[in-house]
Amino acid sequence: MRPAGSIAPARPRGVAEPVRAGTVAGLDAALPEDEAGASLDAALPEDEAGASLDAARVLSDLDELAAISDPGPGVTRVAYTQRDAEGRAWFARRCDELGLRFEVDSHGNCFGWSPGCDERPAVLVGSHLDSVREAGSYDGVLGVVVGFEIARRALTRDPGAPVAVVSFACEESTRFGIGTVGSRLLFGDLDGGALEDLQDLDGTPLREVLSGAGLDPAASSTFDPDGIAAFVEVHVDQGSGLGDTGTVGVVPAIAGCIRTRISWRGEASHSGAHARSQRRNALLGAARFIVAAEDLWSEIDARGESATVTIGWLENRPNAPNSVVGTTDVVVDLRSPDAAVLTATEEALERIARDVGEEGGLEVDVKTLGRIEPVEMSAAVVGILRESARDAEVDHRLFPSMAGHDTEVLAHRIPSAMLFVANPAGVSHNPAEAISRESLAGALTMLDRALPELFVMRATRLEGE
Ligand SMILES: [Zn+2]
Repeated sequence: MRPAGSIAPARPRGVAEPVRAGTVAGLDAALPEDEAGASLDAALPEDEAGASLDAARVLSDLDELAAISDPGPGVTRVAYTQRDAEGRAWFARRCDELGLRFEVDSHGNCFGWSPGCDERPAVLVGSHLDSVREAGSYDGVLGVVVGFEIARRALTRDPGAPVAVVSFACEESTRFGIGTVGSRLLFGDLDGGALEDLQDLDGTPLREVLSGAGLDPAASSTFDPDGIAAFVEVHVDQGSGLGDTGTVGVVPAIAGCIRTRISWRGEASHSGAHARSQRRNALLGAARFIVAAEDLWSEIDARGESATVTIGWLENRPNAPNSVVGTTDVVVDLRSPDAAVLTATEEALERIARDVGEEGGLEVDVKTLGRIEPVEMSAAVVGILRESARDAEVDHRLFPSMAGHDTEVLAHRIPSAMLFVANPAGVSHNPAEAISRESLAGALTMLDRALPELFVMRATRLEGE
């Protein structure tokens, strides 16, 4: 083992010191620097070797990546475009600087493996570098940048540490209408014919998109789920749930989602000539349903259960100012991290739909459009992260993810968990997206402290089998 600190300093080339704090969009608004110009590192402990975690470097990396964008507001780095390729090139450079072996597979998933990964199961940290159009600076990117910072610190402490960084390709559904494409292809979760069948929204088949992105169809990676001890994805909170505090969210589960199309069929008739008592107004049924669904959600909230009920799409026929509506269709988007809550709410919504139909003399049709079950995180990894937070006195709480992430693909095969960094702006997929520096520092600290226990997770898992 080389003496601690003998690895070349990992400060990225071309990044000036001191780092311009708060140049990343949204950060100024999030946490204005105090009068004393307090260092971003204030909340981060140094170890004996002086290998401090460097939140300033994380912010500087986020700045660099935010600059890799199509012109226009916010960040636009859509999967498999030229900008996305520049993101992969950035990833490769960072691997080079840290002494990680860079690999990109035929679908654009990028890996950086430390030498120790050849000897022992790796702790994998990362997320994705592709973005929606006019995104903020943090969604996905934060997890990759944190991965490099965690790897840098671990390797400074022990050059043999088995730590790896990943950026999954095409996590956002912007290009293909479906998300987590790269991670699902990696695990063979998309149908065998996906390469032939899947087309982007412009109608270009995935295979053509991949070759157009300069990816080698014959490239393979040394990725092996059995060679991974644990996976952790750090992500910006995409809502306002963690508020503008320094709290870190520890994700116990990723919500499942059910989309249901409900149709009420009554009778179209003249707006002036048809008596109220004789009308069979489909829109009135839908309106009663929407209000009752909101009341149901508020009861779920009051019980302390976690769910969201959203009706974001509605269609009337005829849709005319002088007609009573004959048919109304809505799509309900129901989410919960709790499978029992999901099923009970789905059944309750169907009952309400049929009740309002009966009340208004309407025929009702209920059709499930799609269903994704909730995915529980590894209780062991969650436990290790919470323990490390308690040890380091990091403000944290359990906080389910209501949006989908690559972790839900990995969690079926690899002990996995997620940490959420608070987003004071309360919005994501928006240039205003922000992060709390204190929460970022907390997530870095938790993950860093958890590493020694995560490294031995695979061994523990094998013993338990
Ligand atoms: Zn994301």
